[in-house]
Amino acid sequence: MRITIIAGARPNFIKIAPIVHALQLSQKVNVNISFRLIHTGQHFDKKMSGDFFEQLGIPVPHSNLEAGGGTQAEQTAAIMIRFEAELTLHPSDLVLVVGDVTSTMACAITAQKMGIKVAHVEAGIRSGDWTMPEEINRLVTDSITNYFFTTSEVAGDNLRRSGVEDERIFFVGNTMIDTLLKNRQRFVAPEIWDRINLITGEYLVLTLHRPANVDQEAQLKELLEEIIVNSRQIPIIFPVHPRTAKNLANLGINAPNLHFIEPLSYLEFNFLVERAKLVVTDSGGITEETTVMGIPCITLRNNTERPETISIGTNELIGTDPANIKPYFDKLFNGKWKKGSIPPLWDGKTAERIVDQIVKIYE
Ligand code: UDP
Repeated sequence: MRITIIAGARPNFIKIAPIVHALQLSQKVNVNISFRLIHTGQHFDKKMSGDFFEQLGIPVPHSNLEAGGGTQAEQTAAIMIRFEAELTLHPSDLVLVVGDVTSTMACAITAQKMGIKVAHVEAGIRSGDWTMPEEINRLVTDSITNYFFTTSEVAGDNLRRSGVEDERIFFVGNTMIDTLLKNRQRFVAPEIWDRINLITGEYLVLTLHRPANVDQEAQLKELLEEIIVNSRQIPIIFPVHPRTAKNLANLGINAPNLHFIEPLSYLEFNFLVERAKLVVTDSGGITEETTVMGIPCITLRNNTERPETISIGTNELIGTDPANIKPYFDKLFNGKWKKGSIPPLWDGKTAERIVDQIVKIYE
Protein backbone atom coordinates (compact mmCIF):
# COMPACT_ATOMS: atom_id res chain seq x y z
CA MET A 1 0.00 0.00 0.00
CA ARG A 2 1.04 3.57 -0.70
CA ILE A 3 0.64 6.22 1.99
CA THR A 4 1.07 9.94 1.49
CA ILE A 5 1.90 11.83 4.67
CA ILE A 6 1.27 15.56 4.92
CA ALA A 7 3.16 18.06 7.03
CA GLY A 8 2.90 21.80 6.69
CA ALA A 9 3.44 23.73 9.90
CA ARG A 10 5.50 23.54 13.10
CA PRO A 11 3.11 21.42 15.21
CA ASN A 12 2.69 19.00 12.28
CA PHE A 13 6.40 18.15 12.18
CA ILE A 14 6.35 17.10 15.83
CA LYS A 15 3.27 14.92 15.23
CA ILE A 16 4.47 13.18 12.04
CA ALA A 17 8.01 12.35 13.21
CA PRO A 18 7.06 9.21 15.17
CA ILE A 19 4.59 8.10 12.47
CA VAL A 20 7.32 8.26 9.83
CA HIS A 21 9.66 6.31 12.10
CA ALA A 22 7.02 3.67 12.85
CA LEU A 23 6.34 3.31 9.12
CA GLN A 24 10.04 2.88 8.42
CA LEU A 25 10.17 0.13 11.04
CA SER A 26 7.06 -1.52 9.66
CA GLN A 27 8.59 -1.52 6.16
CA LYS A 28 11.19 -3.99 7.43
CA VAL A 29 8.47 -6.62 7.89
CA ASN A 30 5.77 -5.37 5.52
CA VAL A 31 7.49 -5.07 2.18
CA ASN A 32 4.30 -3.79 0.57
CA ILE A 33 4.24 -0.48 2.43
CA SER A 34 5.64 2.60 0.80
CA PHE A 35 5.19 6.22 1.71
CA ARG A 36 5.79 9.69 0.38
CA LEU A 37 6.30 12.58 2.75
CA ILE A 38 4.95 15.87 1.44
CA HIS A 39 5.86 19.25 2.94
CA THR A 40 3.28 21.81 1.85
CA GLY A 41 5.62 24.70 2.62
CA GLN A 42 3.10 26.41 4.93
CA HIS A 43 5.91 27.10 7.43
CA PHE A 44 9.15 27.41 5.55
CA ASP A 45 11.92 29.15 7.48
CA LYS A 46 14.62 27.31 9.39
CA LYS A 47 13.31 28.22 12.83
CA MET A 48 9.74 27.09 12.10
CA SER A 49 10.55 24.11 9.88
CA GLY A 50 14.12 23.03 8.98
CA ASP A 51 15.32 22.74 12.59
CA PHE A 52 12.51 20.29 13.39
CA PHE A 53 13.40 17.96 10.52
CA GLU A 54 17.04 17.93 11.63
CA GLN A 55 16.44 17.49 15.37
CA LEU A 56 13.66 14.92 15.10
CA GLY A 57 15.31 12.85 12.35
CA ILE A 58 12.49 13.36 9.86
CA PRO A 59 13.66 12.38 6.36
CA VAL A 60 13.88 15.04 3.65
CA PRO A 61 10.37 15.29 2.13
CA HIS A 62 9.87 13.63 -1.24
CA SER A 63 8.25 16.82 -2.41
CA ASN A 64 7.82 20.39 -1.15
CA LEU A 65 4.74 22.16 -2.51
CA GLU A 66 6.18 25.55 -1.50
CA ALA A 67 2.71 26.93 -0.82
CA GLY A 68 3.62 29.29 2.03
CA GLY A 69 2.25 32.80 2.59
CA GLY A 70 -0.98 34.48 1.49
CA THR A 71 -4.40 34.63 3.10
CA GLN A 72 -6.20 31.55 4.44
CA ALA A 73 -8.02 31.13 1.11
CA GLU A 74 -4.95 31.76 -1.03
CA GLN A 75 -2.94 29.26 0.93
CA THR A 76 -5.71 26.64 0.88
CA ALA A 77 -6.05 27.05 -2.89
CA ALA A 78 -2.30 26.93 -3.55
CA ILE A 79 -1.90 23.76 -1.48
CA MET A 80 -4.87 22.08 -3.17
CA ILE A 81 -3.68 22.87 -6.69
CA ARG A 82 -0.16 21.64 -6.02
CA PHE A 83 -1.21 18.61 -4.01
CA GLU A 84 -3.58 17.52 -6.79
CA ALA A 85 -0.64 17.57 -9.19
CA GLU A 86 1.46 15.57 -6.70
CA LEU A 87 -1.25 12.90 -6.32
CA THR A 88 -1.74 12.70 -10.07
CA LEU A 89 1.96 12.06 -10.54
CA HIS A 90 2.26 9.76 -7.52
CA PRO A 91 -1.01 7.88 -6.92
CA SER A 92 -1.71 6.90 -3.33
CA ASP A 93 -4.02 4.58 -1.38
CA LEU A 94 -4.23 6.70 1.75
CA VAL A 95 -3.50 10.32 2.60
CA LEU A 96 -2.59 10.79 6.25
CA VAL A 97 -3.06 14.28 7.69
CA VAL A 98 -2.33 15.41 11.26
CA GLY A 99 -3.58 18.22 13.48
CA ASP A 100 -5.59 21.24 12.44
CA VAL A 101 -3.61 23.54 10.18
CA THR A 102 -4.56 24.80 6.71
CA SER A 103 -2.49 22.03 5.09
CA THR A 104 -4.48 19.38 7.01
CA MET A 105 -7.79 20.58 5.59
CA ALA A 106 -6.56 21.43 2.07
CA CYS A 107 -4.92 18.04 1.54
CA ALA A 108 -7.89 16.13 2.98
CA ILE A 109 -10.23 17.86 0.52
CA THR A 110 -7.90 17.27 -2.42
CA ALA A 111 -7.45 13.57 -1.62
CA GLN A 112 -11.10 12.82 -1.01
CA LYS A 113 -12.11 14.56 -4.26
CA MET A 114 -9.65 12.31 -6.08
CA GLY A 115 -11.24 9.24 -4.48
CA ILE A 116 -8.34 8.63 -2.11
CA LYS A 117 -9.06 7.64 1.48
CA VAL A 118 -8.09 10.02 4.31
CA ALA A 119 -6.76 9.21 7.77
CA HIS A 120 -6.78 12.04 10.33
CA VAL A 121 -4.46 11.89 13.32
CA GLU A 122 -5.72 14.02 16.25
CA ALA A 123 -9.26 13.78 14.91
CA GLY A 124 -12.39 14.76 16.82
CA ILE A 125 -11.07 17.49 19.10
CA ARG A 126 -13.31 20.56 19.21
CA SER A 127 -13.07 24.01 20.78
CA GLY A 128 -16.56 24.93 19.60
CA ASP A 129 -15.12 28.30 18.57
CA TRP A 130 -15.71 29.01 14.89
CA THR A 131 -13.63 32.20 15.03
CA MET A 132 -10.51 30.00 15.21
CA PRO A 133 -9.22 29.00 11.75
CA GLU A 134 -8.07 25.71 13.32
CA GLU A 135 -11.63 24.81 14.36
CA ILE A 136 -12.84 25.24 10.77
CA ASN A 137 -9.95 23.08 9.61
CA ARG A 138 -10.91 20.38 12.15
CA LEU A 139 -14.60 20.41 11.22
CA VAL A 140 -14.01 20.26 7.48
CA THR A 141 -11.30 17.61 7.74
CA ASP A 142 -13.33 15.35 10.01
CA SER A 143 -16.40 15.66 7.80
CA ILE A 144 -14.47 13.91 4.97
CA THR A 145 -12.15 11.60 6.92
CA ASN A 146 -12.35 7.81 6.61
CA TYR A 147 -10.17 6.74 9.56
CA PHE A 148 -10.10 8.77 12.75
CA PHE A 149 -7.15 8.44 15.14
CA THR A 150 -7.93 10.15 18.43
CA THR A 151 -5.98 11.45 21.43
CA SER A 152 -8.82 11.11 23.96
CA GLU A 153 -12.18 9.49 24.67
CA VAL A 154 -13.75 12.97 24.52
CA ALA A 155 -12.59 13.32 20.90
CA GLY A 156 -14.17 9.96 20.07
CA ASP A 157 -17.42 11.05 21.75
CA ASN A 158 -17.44 14.25 19.66
CA LEU A 159 -17.10 12.18 16.50
CA ARG A 160 -19.79 9.69 17.52
CA ARG A 161 -22.14 12.58 18.27
CA SER A 162 -21.60 13.88 14.75
CA GLY A 163 -22.55 10.49 13.32
CA VAL A 164 -19.21 8.74 12.81
CA GLU A 165 -19.49 4.97 13.33
CA ASP A 166 -17.42 3.31 16.05
CA GLU A 167 -15.57 1.11 13.54
CA ARG A 168 -13.86 4.14 12.03
CA ILE A 169 -12.67 5.66 15.34
CA PHE A 170 -9.37 4.47 16.83
CA PHE A 171 -8.41 5.81 20.25
CA VAL A 172 -4.63 5.55 20.02
CA GLY A 173 -3.17 8.37 22.15
CA ASN A 174 -1.00 11.30 21.23
CA THR A 175 1.87 11.31 18.73
CA MET A 176 3.09 14.70 20.01
CA ILE A 177 3.76 12.91 23.31
CA ASP A 178 5.58 10.08 21.47
CA THR A 179 8.03 12.74 20.29
CA LEU A 180 8.28 14.31 23.74
CA LEU A 181 9.03 11.04 25.52
CA LYS A 182 11.47 9.87 22.88
CA ASN A 183 13.48 13.09 23.01
CA ARG A 184 13.27 14.03 26.67
CA GLN A 185 16.83 12.86 27.37
CA ARG A 186 18.12 14.91 24.43
CA PHE A 187 16.79 18.36 25.38
CA VAL A 188 19.50 21.00 25.12
CA ALA A 189 19.87 24.34 26.88
CA PRO A 190 19.20 27.30 24.59
CA GLU A 191 21.74 30.11 24.44
CA ILE A 192 19.70 32.29 26.84
CA TRP A 193 20.05 29.68 29.65
CA ASP A 194 23.67 30.60 30.40
CA ARG A 195 23.52 34.13 29.09
CA ILE A 196 21.10 35.29 31.81
CA ASN A 197 21.87 32.49 34.28
CA LEU A 198 18.42 30.94 34.39
CA ILE A 199 17.70 28.69 37.36
CA THR A 200 15.35 25.68 37.35
CA GLY A 201 11.92 26.62 38.72
CA GLU A 202 12.67 30.34 38.77
CA TYR A 203 11.44 31.67 35.42
CA LEU A 204 8.34 31.72 33.23
CA VAL A 205 7.96 30.71 29.59
CA LEU A 206 5.48 32.66 27.47
CA THR A 207 4.16 31.89 23.97
CA LEU A 208 1.36 33.72 22.15
CA HIS A 209 0.22 33.38 18.56
CA ARG A 210 -3.58 33.13 18.39
CA PRO A 211 -5.26 35.98 16.50
CA ALA A 212 -7.53 36.74 19.52
CA ASN A 213 -4.46 37.63 21.58
CA VAL A 214 -1.93 39.03 19.15
CA ASP A 215 -3.84 40.75 16.33
CA GLN A 216 -5.19 43.58 18.51
CA GLU A 217 -2.28 45.64 19.78
CA ALA A 218 -4.20 46.90 22.85
CA GLN A 219 -5.05 43.33 23.96
CA LEU A 220 -1.47 42.12 23.49
CA LYS A 221 -0.11 45.12 25.42
CA GLU A 222 -2.50 44.65 28.35
CA LEU A 223 -1.77 40.93 28.58
CA LEU A 224 1.98 41.51 28.63
CA GLU A 225 1.75 44.32 31.17
CA GLU A 226 -0.37 42.19 33.48
CA ILE A 227 2.03 39.24 33.22
CA ILE A 228 5.00 41.53 33.96
CA VAL A 229 3.29 43.17 36.97
CA ASN A 230 2.45 39.78 38.48
CA SER A 231 5.72 38.00 37.71
CA ARG A 232 7.53 38.86 40.99
CA GLN A 233 10.44 39.99 38.78
CA ILE A 234 11.47 36.47 37.82
CA PRO A 235 12.61 36.18 34.18
CA ILE A 236 9.90 35.81 31.53
CA ILE A 237 11.25 34.06 28.43
CA PHE A 238 9.14 34.81 25.36
CA PRO A 239 10.07 32.95 22.13
CA VAL A 240 8.16 35.08 19.64
CA HIS A 241 6.11 33.40 16.89
CA PRO A 242 6.51 35.16 13.50
CA ARG A 243 2.82 36.09 13.55
CA THR A 244 3.25 37.91 16.88
CA ALA A 245 6.53 39.62 16.01
CA LYS A 246 4.95 42.21 13.72
CA ASN A 247 2.62 43.59 16.38
CA LEU A 248 5.11 43.38 19.21
CA ALA A 249 7.51 45.64 17.36
CA ASN A 250 4.92 48.46 17.45
CA LEU A 251 4.13 48.14 21.16
CA GLY A 252 7.48 49.21 22.54
CA ILE A 253 6.99 47.09 25.68
CA ASN A 254 10.08 46.73 27.82
CA ALA A 255 10.71 45.32 31.28
CA PRO A 256 14.02 44.29 32.81
CA ASN A 257 12.77 40.71 33.33
CA LEU A 258 11.06 40.27 29.93
CA HIS A 259 13.25 38.55 27.34
CA PHE A 260 12.07 38.37 23.74
CA ILE A 261 13.86 35.65 21.79
CA GLU A 262 13.38 34.00 18.39
CA PRO A 263 11.30 30.80 18.17
CA LEU A 264 13.36 27.98 19.66
CA SER A 265 14.13 24.61 18.19
CA TYR A 266 12.15 21.71 19.67
CA LEU A 267 14.94 20.39 21.93
CA GLU A 268 15.74 23.86 23.25
CA PHE A 269 12.14 24.91 23.80
CA ASN A 270 11.26 21.83 25.80
CA PHE A 271 14.48 22.10 27.84
CA LEU A 272 13.13 25.46 29.01
CA VAL A 273 9.58 24.18 29.56
CA GLU A 274 10.72 21.17 31.57
CA ARG A 275 12.48 23.46 34.07
CA ALA A 276 10.02 26.36 34.14
CA LYS A 277 8.00 27.50 37.14
CA LEU A 278 5.07 28.19 34.84
CA VAL A 279 4.20 28.29 31.14
CA VAL A 280 1.74 30.92 29.93
CA THR A 281 0.47 30.18 26.44
CA ASP A 282 -2.34 30.18 23.91
CA SER A 283 -0.96 27.13 22.10
CA GLY A 284 -2.76 23.80 22.15
CA GLY A 285 0.18 21.43 21.80
CA ILE A 286 2.18 23.08 24.56
CA THR A 287 -0.60 22.39 27.10
CA GLU A 288 -0.24 18.68 26.28
CA GLU A 289 3.53 18.79 26.79
CA THR A 290 3.27 20.68 30.12
CA THR A 291 0.67 18.13 31.25
CA VAL A 292 3.06 15.26 30.60
CA MET A 293 6.03 17.05 32.18
CA GLY A 294 3.90 18.16 35.18
CA ILE A 295 4.65 21.86 34.67
CA PRO A 296 1.97 24.40 35.71
CA CYS A 297 0.39 25.98 32.64
CA ILE A 298 -2.01 28.89 32.09
CA THR A 299 -3.93 29.03 28.81
CA LEU A 300 -4.96 32.52 27.71
CA ARG A 301 -8.02 31.45 25.73
CA ASN A 302 -11.77 31.23 26.33
CA ASN A 303 -12.01 27.63 25.22
CA THR A 304 -9.86 24.61 24.50
CA GLU A 305 -10.14 21.59 22.25
CA ARG A 306 -7.95 19.70 24.75
CA PRO A 307 -10.09 19.51 27.93
CA GLU A 308 -8.05 16.62 29.36
CA THR A 309 -5.11 19.01 29.91
CA ILE A 310 -7.36 20.74 32.47
CA SER A 311 -9.41 17.87 33.90
CA ILE A 312 -6.39 15.55 34.18
CA GLY A 313 -3.33 17.73 33.59
CA THR A 314 -1.70 20.87 34.97
CA ASN A 315 -3.40 23.36 32.67
CA GLU A 316 -5.84 26.13 33.71
CA LEU A 317 -8.01 27.85 31.13
CA ILE A 318 -8.31 31.45 32.28
CA GLY A 319 -9.75 33.34 29.29
CA THR A 320 -8.28 36.33 27.49
CA ASP A 321 -9.22 39.02 30.02
CA PRO A 322 -5.93 40.33 31.52
CA ALA A 323 -7.71 40.78 34.88
CA ASN A 324 -7.81 36.98 35.29
CA ILE A 325 -4.02 36.70 35.40
CA LYS A 326 -3.41 37.95 38.96
CA PRO A 327 -5.37 35.31 40.92
CA TYR A 328 -3.67 32.46 39.04
CA PHE A 329 -0.19 33.94 39.49
CA ASP A 330 -0.95 34.34 43.21
CA LYS A 331 -1.98 30.70 43.39
CA LEU A 332 1.25 29.66 41.71
CA PHE A 333 3.55 31.75 43.85
CA ASN A 334 1.70 30.54 46.97
CA GLY A 335 2.53 26.95 45.98
CA LYS A 336 -1.15 26.02 45.49
CA TRP A 337 -1.04 24.68 41.89
CA LYS A 338 -2.87 21.42 41.22
CA LYS A 339 -0.75 18.31 40.70
CA GLY A 340 -2.22 16.60 37.63
CA SER A 341 -1.49 13.26 35.98
CA ILE A 342 -1.01 11.86 32.49
CA PRO A 343 -4.01 11.15 30.22
CA PRO A 344 -4.66 7.55 29.08
CA LEU A 345 -2.51 6.23 26.22
CA TRP A 346 -0.16 9.23 26.21
CA ASP A 347 2.58 6.66 26.61
CA GLY A 348 4.96 7.10 23.70
CA LYS A 349 3.51 4.21 21.65
CA THR A 350 0.80 5.98 19.70
CA ALA A 351 2.51 6.00 16.29
CA GLU A 352 3.08 2.24 16.53
CA ARG A 353 -0.63 1.75 17.23
CA ILE A 354 -1.55 3.95 14.25
CA VAL A 355 0.70 2.08 11.84
CA ASP A 356 -0.46 -1.32 13.16
CA GLN A 357 -4.05 -0.26 12.61
CA ILE A 358 -3.40 1.01 9.09
CA VAL A 359 -1.62 -2.24 8.20
CA LYS A 360 -4.65 -4.16 9.53
CA ILE A 361 -7.08 -2.08 7.49
CA TYR A 362 -5.14 -2.65 4.28
CA GLU A 363 -4.21 -6.33 4.82
N1 UDP B 1 7.61 24.82 20.02
C1 UDP B 1 8.97 24.89 19.71
N2 UDP B 1 9.60 26.09 19.79
C2 UDP B 1 8.98 27.23 20.19
C3 UDP B 1 7.58 27.16 20.53
C4 UDP B 1 6.94 25.94 20.41
O1 UDP B 1 9.58 23.86 19.37
O2 UDP B 1 9.62 28.29 20.26
C5 UDP B 1 6.91 23.52 19.89
C6 UDP B 1 6.20 23.04 21.12
O3 UDP B 1 7.06 22.26 21.94
C7 UDP B 1 5.05 22.23 20.57
C8 UDP B 1 4.73 22.91 19.25
O4 UDP B 1 5.88 23.70 18.93
O5 UDP B 1 5.49 20.90 20.29
C9 UDP B 1 3.50 23.76 19.38
O6 UDP B 1 3.35 24.50 18.26
P1 UDP B 1 2.39 25.78 18.17
O7 UDP B 1 2.28 26.43 19.50
O8 UDP B 1 2.90 26.58 17.03
O9 UDP B 1 1.04 25.14 17.68
P2 UDP B 1 -0.30 24.69 18.37
O10 UDP B 1 0.03 23.57 19.30
O11 UDP B 1 -0.89 25.88 19.05
O12 UDP B 1 -1.14 24.22 17.22
